[in-house]
Amino acid sequence: MPEPLTIAVSKGRILEEALPLLARAGIVPREDPARSRRLVLETSRADVRLLVIRAADVPTYVRHGAAELGIAGRDVLMEQGSEGLYEPLDLGIARCRMMVAGRPDAPAPQRRLRVATKYVNVTRRHYAAKGEQVELIKLYGSMELAPLVGLADRIVDLVDTGRTLAANGLVPLEHIADVSSRLVVNRAAMKVRHREVRALVADLEAAVAASGAPVAEGAAHG
Ligand code: AMP
Repeated sequence: MPEPLTIAVSKGRILEEALPLLARAGIVPREDPARSRRLVLETSRADVRLLVIRAADVPTYVRHGAAELGIAGRDVLMEQGSEGLYEPLDLGIARCRMMVAGRPDAPAPQRRLRVATKYVNVTRRHYAAKGEQVELIKLYGSMELAPLVGLADRIVDLVDTGRTLAANGLVPLEHIADVSSRLVVNRAAMKVRHREVRALVADLEAAVAASGAPVAEGAAHG
């Protein structure tokens, strides 16, 4: 029996929304991933296993071939670039928007705007495209706090319902990108294990179509 194909996926919202899609492709983890401490999960399909890792690590595992496939947010792919990866399918899950947000009442500062975010590359490109020089402050989470305590004038973060912004007295100011999770595939695996990988991508494509979510143009990037 050949090595199983490994799909890297992150815990939380992406995994929760990916599980029904995977189930439609006949892939059901043997243990409940929300409860299990295992990082490698066998599934009902002997030819497929899951790796449960941090969202920002998914492209790294796939790029290096430690997982043949991965499920990664477009936010992470925009930030890290998709070098070494094919991106054959928009899974249409974990949808949200990447936005600039800030306090509604804050006067424009007499210095460079300070922008706190974990998406420093996307943010740099966003302001560069507007011809604005800003000071970037890299954070790893809880960006909404930064404007409240004077660490930053703006944040760049993911927004879904807008409740987190509202609860912290912030408002969305600029839309940067629509985000959803994408299937990514290691480029070498796509060649060497072409038949198996194509079959799995086709299974997932059918699962997405059956779920009523739109399927992306099927473009390969990188
Ligand atoms: P909300 O309050 O519904 O606007 O959700 C915003 C919070 O959830 C922020 O902390 C975001 O970073 C996080 N969030 C929203 N959508 C996603 C997503 N698709 N993937 C990961 N985090 C998300």
